[in-house]
Amino acid sequence: MTAAGGLADGAIKPLYSEEAIALRVDQLASDIAARRLDDLMVVAVLKGSFIFAADLIRALHRHGLEPEIDFVYLASYDGKRVSRGEVRVLRDVESDIKGRNVVIVDDIFDSGRTLAFAKALLAEGGARQVLTCVLVDKQVKRASAITPDFIGFSCPPVFVVGYGMDLHNRYRELPFIGELTASD
Ligand code: 5GP
Ligand code: MG
Repeated sequence: MTAAGGLADGAIKPLYSEEAIALRVDQLASDIAARRLDDLMVVAVLKGSFIFAADLIRALHRHGLEPEIDFVYLASYDGKRVSRGEVRVLRDVESDIKGRNVVIVDDIFDSGRTLAFAKALLAEGGARQVLTCVLVDKQVKRASAITPDFIGFSCPPVFVVGYGMDLHNRYRELPFIGELTASD
């Protein structure tokens, strides 16, 4: 079974290579560093952003930042390919974020509901400023008014997997991002 194509139950068309992702993540870290956010807390939205967040915080370190990291676990879709519209908190942040500069990190900006929800949640927690960073911005009609502050890639409205992103918890381990072209 090969990663790109040749899977028994589907084919994955590569969209962003490992090298392209590494370059873009470094640029995002540089953009975040340029904002000179003191007392920075990175909040990664589980599960899809865990690989992106791991690479991003190490890139932030290379750019001279010392972010703390915490996680929220939100569910906005039920493992199918379409967002359900309702967001649930499966795990909230542990840290006190009062007065902190927060950058929320998520894998994909689709309808926008998840990130809008996360932003409101952390603002309610008393953060000084809540910025948002997504690796993939899907070019679709939004159900939310927010625009991410930092965007890795703008991609067509297709279903993507890899680099932490899944279908039924599969494909997260792929080092690249690809379009899942076959139905499951
Ligand atoms: P939103 O709330 O913006 O509609 O949905 C965002 C969440 O839905 C993402 O964080 C991700 O978990 C999931 N999602 C949306 N589109 C895709 C996709 O193309 N592939 C995967 N694997 N997850 C997606
Ligand atoms: Mg997600």
